[in-house]
Amino acid sequence: MRTANVNGRLVLVLDDGAVDVERASDGQFSSDPQAVFERWPEFRAWAATAVAAGHERVAFDERDTGAPVPRPRQVFAVALNYADHVEESAATAPARPAVFTKYPTSLAGPYDTIALPSALVDWEVELVAVIGTRAHRVTAADAWSHIAGLTAGQDLSERRIQLEGPAPQFSLGKSFPGFSPTGPVLVTPDAFADPDDLALGCAVDGETVQESRSSRMIFPIAEQIAWISGICPLLPGDLVFTGTPAGVGGARDPRRFLAPGEELHSWIEGVGELRNPLIAGPAYPHGPHGRPAHP
Ligand code: ZN
Repeated sequence: MRTANVNGRLVLVLDDGAVDVERASDGQFSSDPQAVFERWPEFRAWAATAVAAGHERVAFDERDTGAPVPRPRQVFAVALNYADHVEESAATAPARPAVFTKYPTSLAGPYDTIALPSALVDWEVELVAVIGTRAHRVTAADAWSHIAGLTAGQDLSERRIQLEGPAPQFSLGKSFPGFSPTGPVLVTPDAFADPDDLALGCAVDGETVQESRSSRMIFPIAEQIAWISGICPLLPGDLVFTGTPAGVGGARDPRRFLAPGEELHSWIEGVGELRNPLIAGPAYPHGPHGRPAHP
């Protein structure tokens, strides 16, 4: 099953168009794409019958979609989760998932324009897991039963803020507005032959820079969910960015970062693609050493 957020309304995406969930359910389910996660098992049951019910189809164009999960309460992300990315980062593979947060104000849609706050913004294509039912202290064996589905995402990263100083600021460096585009659809785990083995990649202005498979994760999705949920309860509609493979710009020689006028194109097998145009944005207000850039 696939769902999407079309102009702010929850739709079921079928082979021959989309079904508006609020209208087709006679108001049983809200049009709000975020609200559905509070009743995810009930919604899955309704959706299974809706496919055959002959509800009115509306045209579906991915370019009309917004973030499939527009207002998660928590957005986790996992760093250094592919061996080739650990190597290119000259880092050591973590013994446990290396977790940080991307703040929800950084979310964007799959075709939204992203403003670059500096000349040091990097790309990271990532598979994103969406929580369907509360998960607290769950085992890896039980983790997939708490996942509503998967979507595609980018973990854009301003490398100076992310990596500078005695306590590197991963969460801030990866949370400028627009730094977490996701979409175009949410796909339930049962729709994949193997949800742990999906091709993913991204291109900058037509040049492919990342290409891998999610089966190469150091910590598979279920182990990430188990680890995070051992500390923080995961809530319906939360997101987990599951790490990026090799090919980021900061690890290239010479380094390459995103530039205004370029397009960031990201894709995940069975989910779809994101195409985010990039423009110059306002610089952040403080210089690299914490003093005002313009006193
Ligand atoms: Zn990342």
